[in-house]
Amino acid sequence: MARLVMKFGGTSVADIDRIRNVAHHVRREVEAGHEVAVVVSAMSGKTNELVGWCRAAAPLHDAREYDAVVASGEQVTSGLLAITLEGIGINARSWQGWQLPILTSNAHGSARILDINGAELIKRFKERKEVAVISGFQGVHKDTGRITTLGRGGSDTSAVAIAAAIQADRCDIYTDVDGVYTTDPRVVPRARRMDRIAFEEMLEFASLGAKVLQVRSVELGMLHKVKIFVRSSFDKPEDIDPHGTPPGTLICDEEDIVEQQTVTGIAFSKDEAQISVRHVPDKPGVAAAIFGPLAEASINVDMIVQNVSADGATTDLTFTVPSADFQRSVDVLNKSKAAIGFDHIDGSIDVAKVSVIGIGMRSHAGVAADAFKALAGRGVNIRAITTSEIKFSVLIDAAYTELAVRTLHSLYGLDK
Ligand code: ADP
Ligand code: ASP
Ligand code: MG
Repeated sequence: MARLVMKFGGTSVADIDRIRNVAHHVRREVEAGHEVAVVVSAMSGKTNELVGWCRAAAPLHDAREYDAVVASGEQVTSGLLAITLEGIGINARSWQGWQLPILTSNAHGSARILDINGAELIKRFKERKEVAVISGFQGVHKDTGRITTLGRGGSDTSAVAIAAAIQADRCDIYTDVDGVYTTDPRVVPRARRMDRIAFEEMLEFASLGAKVLQVRSVELGMLHKVKIFVRSSFDKPEDIDPHGTPPGTLICDEEDIVEQQTVTGIAFSKDEAQISVRHVPDKPGVAAAIFGPLAEASINVDMIVQNVSADGATTDLTFTVPSADFQRSVDVLNKSKAAIGFDHIDGSIDVAKVSVIGIGMRSHAGVAADAFKALAGRGVNIRAITTSEIKFSVLIDAAYTELAVRTLHSLYGLDK
């Protein structure tokens, strides 16, 4: 007997038929003798619709009310799955974040989980053989008692945090792909599924745009040593051998990877915007004058490139921000124009960041140089570059994203 968390994403619970399919997956594990906590997302598209309604009601709205609205998608699917499970003879009860409770910080819209009380769930596994069906994505602020949400894609984080709280043997993330691929399989059909990927690499994948797992879920998994397995909910429940190993990807420690490649995969993100501040004085304190006000406005700056000035007087400074923060960033900088002393700002939201990831890069030189050559050969212009120990990223025109990803995917021998 094992204790399992089974998490199902939006496409896996998109309608009543799919919820019925999920119920059969749950029944399979219950019949194999396991204790099961299920975490569900909202039906696919639902959260976008709810976010859209908040914006339509008032572009600048109170984040506490945003959370009250957007958390509702998961309330519906948890109740529906509990009903469906009961309908096929499985004891089940739904739980909202505030009912367990899942206590969080008060950063509404992107709250962090602080504590989860798993005792009642475990008691019910033992006493009633009851499946817990938990609404993902939501929690409750520990002091105010108000509903919070964990940021987009947050049900993954709910699932891993619950797995840690109930000491689950495994956290299965069921989604619309059967594992983590060398790049998004929707963009590169020749992408390969990985049997295993190290936590460190998965963190980079997630933070650089591969939305298959929310970044925070990987961090929590690494911290609490949760065994996370990404697999498909579209496999037929009756075709799965309860004693075999289904197709999927295990997120594990670096030591558990047998054959480490230099490059593991390619991630990309189109949610970036480029800002160039032109003709700033080339003197101490200018970077602080630019990035200080942005930090105060809680705008996350990512890539930064500063030229060495040719005339010793002025230079240009280029950086990226999330595209949703583009206009706000420009406004913030214009407000500080006198203090910074720049000439003008230009920028673009039609850019993308393409990243190459691999722990093996720590011990291999020239990996990035190969990429620059290959991209140049395809006529892809690079606007900015950043590197770190196990990844490097290039900023390019968004129109070239797919071409760049495919080029790099074949360059590093990742094609099937
Ligand atoms: P869910 O609704 O189940 O949470 P998501 O849409 O959040 O699913 O995440 C799954 C999607 O992530 C896939 O459909 C795929 O297009 C995308 N994806 C991006 N990069 C990768 C990758 N490297 N491996 C697998 N999927 C990826
Ligand atoms: N429903 C939420 C979202 O779309 C959470 C999730 O799916 O993980 O972001
Ligand atoms: Mg997701």
